[in-house]
Amino acid sequence: MCGIVGFTGAQSAAPILLEGLKKLEYRGYDSAGIAVMADRKIAVHKVTGRISNLCEKTGDGSKVPGTTGIGHTRWATHGAPTEENAHPHLSNDGKFAVVHNGIIENYMSLREELIRDGYHFESETDTEVIVHLIEMFYRGDVREALIKTTNRLRGSYALGVICSEEPGKIYAVREASPLILGIGLGENYFASDVTALVNHTRNVIYLEDGEFAELSEDAIRIFDCTGQVISRKATRILWDVQAAEKGGYEHFMLKEIMEQPGAVKATIAPRIKNGAIEFEEMGLSVAEIKNIRNIIITACGSAYYAGCAGKYAIERLSRIPVDVELASELRYSDPLIDEHTLLIVISQSGETADTIAAMKECKDRGAKALAIVNVVGSSVAKLADYTVYTWAGPEIAVATTKGYTTQVTVLYMLAVFLGDKLGLIGNRKTQMIHSLQSLPRQIQQAFDLNSSIPALAKKYHASKSLFFIGRNTDYAVALEGALKMKEISYLHAEAYAAGELKHGTIALIEEHQPVIALCCNPSIMEKTLSNIVEVKSRGAEVLALTFRNNHKILSVADDLLFVPDIDPLFSAVVEIVPLQLLAYYVAKENGCDIDKPKNLAKSVTVE
Ligand code: GLU
Repeated sequence: MCGIVGFTGAQSAAPILLEGLKKLEYRGYDSAGIAVMADRKIAVHKVTGRISNLCEKTGDGSKVPGTTGIGHTRWATHGAPTEENAHPHLSNDGKFAVVHNGIIENYMSLREELIRDGYHFESETDTEVIVHLIEMFYRGDVREALIKTTNRLRGSYALGVICSEEPGKIYAVREASPLILGIGLGENYFASDVTALVNHTRNVIYLEDGEFAELSEDAIRIFDCTGQVISRKATRILWDVQAAEKGGYEHFMLKEIMEQPGAVKATIAPRIKNGAIEFEEMGLSVAEIKNIRNIIITACGSAYYAGCAGKYAIERLSRIPVDVELASELRYSDPLIDEHTLLIVISQSGETADTIAAMKECKDRGAKALAIVNVVGSSVAKLADYTVYTWAGPEIAVATTKGYTTQVTVLYMLAVFLGDKLGLIGNRKTQMIHSLQSLPRQIQQAFDLNSSIPALAKKYHASKSLFFIGRNTDYAVALEGALKMKEISYLHAEAYAAGELKHGTIALIEEHQPVIALCCNPSIMEKTLSNIVEVKSRGAEVLALTFRNNHKILSVADDLLFVPDIDPLFSAVVEIVPLQLLAYYVAKENGCDIDKPKNLAKSVTVE
């Protein structure tokens, strides 16, 4: 969570830091601050709330002299989002300022120790121990002080550090939290992700865990925990700068919903060759596929729900049993995993802390890990044995849309790929590939068929709670649809397997209770229809999501959302689209901050 930035060069640092923080604001936004060095003195400016408050306080940075600095936008883990707890934190002697992304797990004992040694604390954060440790270990060499400090830390941290005795230098440290160095001309940068760098440079270096960097305006030095210098090649960012801008849309979320036909196409098209699916970059051999006895999909949040949707297609086409596990649970569950298990790990950012931990746990037990990630070079991609990228482009809105649909798309392609390699799908392959290739067009049709959504949002936005019901894939999509609604509109939304309602939850259905019923698979449509009738008989208001001309539902439901004619095997990618739009317009009706919902952050890099 949270974003950190650093700049050193000839230009004024504060405006550049603020601009970078704005780009990172989706990662955390409860408070923010910058520390800039001028005349061997560090000045800190902090605010609660958004970066715009910090811009106001500093005259967009114009009131802050100095060409070297660091900045932070916070997602509080330890201590309330107050100005005292906002980063940067200063050492008692005022020589060091630190920004930190992550959690220091042993901060309590370090804090007690430092207090005993006479250091005083200004904040409740775990972070503050770091800056006092640096002061304690500093004997004229910042590198050495950083190495000694990190030897004492347990947990996750991306750090940015400046020292008033080293004008023109910024230091960066990485352990289990993302950090990227940007190489400019006569200036250098670091940031938590590339969106903060692309306006300045496309040449970057991905720092790895356990590495330190010293940046001055004309040099970047990377070293390890023994102080040994490491040489590392720069990588070129291929992202289009425009891709991280709103491009005329009111919100990033709406823009990203609308980008889905292109993102799904970019994910599918390069992988269809000679009538078959080929994952050239993945490198999973037929012998390895035949060795798989079970698949475990692990992820968090929407990526977990993408896994729930993918399970049906993978089991159906490959006949390999699939379990979908929440990463935060799997990591502590002493899982039954061995070298015959294929672990599929899904993460948009590739930096999700729980997912990384679950992955390490399973790999230690012999499983091979296949990663489905969006961010090239991310931690998950690096740890994996096989990687398939979702070519969604940068996703800025906190609530994922194109991230989710491209993840499900990869799982669908993987289902066909595995079934094909195991010789189980025979001549149905051509039809399946055709269905996959139709998805981008069908998403577009889903937009076209549902122009009534803004009006429906007006009807449903004031509801106290919403139920989402469905069976099989419809149920998996209901889970994601309900999560979208919760995340951005703050309405209580609950997804339930339609057939399970009568085992308890139906007790909550009363007069005018909205129920969103997903009914997109003709073969089980009649079953869900019975559940719709059950809730209608208890007074529910039903908004059904179904295929066109489904006359049976038309006559029962109060309101309708439509999907075009889709292959039920691969329906989730299209089915979710009207629900994303519904959540978006409900949130808009409720005046919510759609791209930055309260209490959430995009890339959950803490446990
Ligand atoms: N744990 C630190 C804090 O609560 C950093 C949180 C963050 O990553 O924003 O201040």
